[in-house]
Amino acid sequence: MALDIFQQVQTGLEEKHRNVTEFLETASDAAKGICLCNDAQCVQEHLHVLETSLQKIEDNTLGLCEVCHGYVDASHLEMDYTASICLDHYSPDEMRRLEAELELSQIVQRALLPQRIPNIAGVELAAFSRPSEIVGGDYFDFFQFRDGAHGLVIADVSGHGVAAGMLMSSLQTALRTIAPEADSPAEILERINRFYIHNIHFSTFVTIFLVRFDPSSRTLTYVNAGHNPPALHRKGSAEMVWLMPTAPAIGLAEIFNPRTESLVLSSGDSLLLYTDGVTEVLNDSMEQFGQSRLAQILLQNADLSASGTLQTVLQQASAFGDNKMLADDVTMISLKVLE
Ligand SMILES: [Zn+2]
Repeated sequence: MALDIFQQVQTGLEEKHRNVTEFLETASDAAKGICLCNDAQCVQEHLHVLETSLQKIEDNTLGLCEVCHGYVDASHLEMDYTASICLDHYSPDEMRRLEAELELSQIVQRALLPQRIPNIAGVELAAFSRPSEIVGGDYFDFFQFRDGAHGLVIADVSGHGVAAGMLMSSLQTALRTIAPEADSPAEILERINRFYIHNIHFSTFVTIFLVRFDPSSRTLTYVNAGHNPPALHRKGSAEMVWLMPTAPAIGLAEIFNPRTESLVLSSGDSLLLYTDGVTEVLNDSMEQFGQSRLAQILLQNADLSASGTLQTVLQQASAFGDNKMLADDVTMISLKVLE
């Protein structure tokens, strides 16, 4: 097999390993709790697979077929660095699944599609996104599931700049490729995690909150993969409900078992999805804007429309940070059930 494939795999694996260990060493306990869904062990298996694969490169055994002891096809290894069986030995079912993954990896590099805010009956939606650099690592999108139910997603790629922006655009393409054939948020995220975790082109991780909303029953079904908990306000309530993580961030856990949560919205309820660029705004004393200030603002302005809520949160977060340029990408989606 061409030597440059192994060099490419090695570079990708080393970068992944560096990113994960740096996260474990530098992230705050609170950030780790959210990102790993309070399961500190989930990342260990992934590190183990990375280290084993790097060792195999050194031993010249990476990509060695378990059946015929030849090397697997280079393009197969490029797509999945853990590949250890030649395509010839696959069953028709396994082959079909692999072809779908191959197709996905080819589609993933295509250009961005334009974004628009959909009309959803009985609901007002608003969205805001501003990258801190020309290319940002935040992502939000709207799409439809196989049965026509609405999909909402907000995501934050670790890191900034061009690399994060490229991962963001590939995420959008992957999601738009998978979603029209999917029935649930868990199904989409399981497939995206499987694809991202073994593909050497994606060396970092992504937090994602993915929602399925059925307007006829107002049922909201979601998986929170290591993302900042969205804020749900029930009309008339004096407290916020935080939709806590139900899975680790995409690209961190080898074994990904997302838990799906479901709730029914009522008239006047509102939901705010946001990235950490909102809650991590710093003031002059280096205090964070934080979740409790966000909750306070949302409770005080519970009567505002979806777009009014976005504007108010943005104004107050900027004022808290003394109107300096926000250091991180800032993205929010606001949803309000009409009365
Ligand atoms: Zn073989």
